[in-house]
Amino acid sequence: MPTIFSKIVAGEIPADIVYQDERVTAFKDIHPLAPVHILIIPNKEIATVDDVSPEDEATLGHLFVVAKEVARKLGIAESGYRLIINCKGDGGQEVFHMHMHLLGGKKLGSMLAKS
Ligand code: 5GP
Repeated sequence: MPTIFSKIVAGEIPADIVYQDERVTAFKDIHPLAPVHILIIPNKEIATVDDVSPEDEATLGHLFVVAKEVARKLGIAESGYRLIINCKGDGGQEVFHMHMHLLGGKKLGSMLAKS
């Protein structure tokens, strides 16, 4: 079964896509946690960071280049932003198609809630 994110890559379900090329797609998160909240995903379905293989290195490096470009395009390059990749249950991953969150547009506070 393709993931919901693979369906977004294929154009089968709608998303607000801000960047797409042959390796990577970036689109607005449906439930934004900050004024800017973009998901950047490899078009290839990689379930989690734990499933990454050496052949994915170029694509995963490209995620960072796209993150930088999207941040600049959306006007948060100077003020700063946060990149997050959740992995599996304890990491809080909900969609098992690996993705990078790009968050910004306000002061994001400390990295983790203190508990
Ligand atoms: P995770 O918790 O797996 O790191 O993050 C999954 C993210 O995907 C969540 O922030 C959630 O709001 C977002 N999301 C889930 N389903 C959809 C969808 O169908 N479209 C979009 N644009 N975002 C989604």
